Amino acid sequence: MPTPSSAAPTNLFEDALKNLDEAFAYAEIHPEALERLRHPRTSIEVSIPVRMDSGEIRVFRGYRVRHDDTRGPGKGGLRFHPKVDMNEVKALAFWMTCKCAVMDLPFGGAKGGIEVDPKELSKLELERLSRRFIHRIADFIGPDLDVPAPDVYTNPMIMGWMMDEYCKFTRRHTPAVITGKPIPLGGSLGRNEATGRGAYFCIKEHELHRGWDPKRTTVAVQGFGNAGQAVAQLLHADGYQIVAVSDSRGGIYRKEGFHIPSLIQAKNDTRRLQAVYCQNKLCKLIEADTITNEELLELEVDILIPAALENVITEDNADKIKAHTLVEVANGPVTTGASPILTKNDVYIIPDILANAGGVTVSYFEWVQNRAGFYWTEEEVNKRLLVKMRTEFHNVYDISLAHDIDMRTAAYVLALKRIGEALTAQGTKDYFFDGVV
Ligand code: GLU
Repeated sequence: MPTPSSAAPTNLFEDALKNLDEAFAYAEIHPEALERLRHPRTSIEVSIPVRMDSGEIRVFRGYRVRHDDTRGPGKGGLRFHPKVDMNEVKALAFWMTCKCAVMDLPFGGAKGGIEVDPKELSKLELERLSRRFIHRIADFIGPDLDVPAPDVYTNPMIMGWMMDEYCKFTRRHTPAVITGKPIPLGGSLGRNEATGRGAYFCIKEHELHRGWDPKRTTVAVQGFGNAGQAVAQLLHADGYQIVAVSDSRGGIYRKEGFHIPSLIQAKNDTRRLQAVYCQNKLCKLIEADTITNEELLELEVDILIPAALENVITEDNADKIKAHTLVEVANGPVTTGASPILTKNDVYIIPDILANAGGVTVSYFEWVQNRAGFYWTEEEVNKRLLVKMRTEFHNVYDISLAHDIDMRTAAYVLALKRIGEALTAQGTKDYFFDGVV
């Protein structure tokens, strides 16, 4: 992805917390709840020595932050990325707390990661690194403590290695320690596409309100990883015109739209994003313009879907966004400085803590299935996901109408209300100190 512009916040966690202040005005909760959410419960940094294929030792840095566990065990992904640092992980953990509360899941929020470019490692090195990391944080995670999952540049196979390592460490078969696992290792059907599917369900709800015709609606997707591919595929199957797509190397644009299954097939076969049309196994190149990631964001399209990393829309480029609807499939793609500019320009934002919550929702279903030892069909998973997404989309939407606020603020109001109620149930100053000593 492009390097964030000068307008990107230097302290991502502090920037993320600003959303709380605005939402607090409407949430009707005790100020103590707000104060507690400003401080992650526990943060650890570990060093992970790994013997590389060359015989040398390389020491990697890893993190896990449990932001809040009032409503349940910590929940959130693990990312492998060269730019991972403690501050970013804290912000991502905070977003998970809010996301799980918006979806009314019995979880708090957590996040972790390793500072590494996984593309530079061999498969054996990647496996050693993943297993070693779990060793380092094994006392810190568990089905009733903190449950990791995939995130940027991690996948089901990595989750499978990690689960296996945890089971060896604890000498217990414990599939519920990690979600997003491969199906034969206790993963849930439907988990792989769940983030994209959840975003798709949000778009369909919004479509009902706006009454647009999918066939005449153009879409640009920034990021063609797991979530970007899934949402593009579902929208394409529904008739939407996906006119632009990008990955970390850059993007492609085609006025007539792309055949998304072909792009996915070619990306899986060659690891490259290419403008192709495939029939059976045969792919041929088609005409398309090459664009940068920045250009993709500024395209004249109806729906813009940032599905890669945080801070891609800042005060520098917010005014140049032409889409009328922005669906945040990435975590934190819009800075708090950019958000009001977009709202002023009538860009309707479906915020990350709602739009990309399908992933953690099906992670929750996976955790439930692991603990029950009883597995659901894909149809059952997707049906339950639809009910969850619809219910919480409407809860957020109703709050936004009731207070005349944007969907992001409304989502934080809902999250704060639910977390605040849980914290208040443990007693606040009003309970402990009623003026009588
Ligand atoms: N990494 C995903 C997210 O940011 C999924 C987390 C999970 O499934 O726990 O929501």
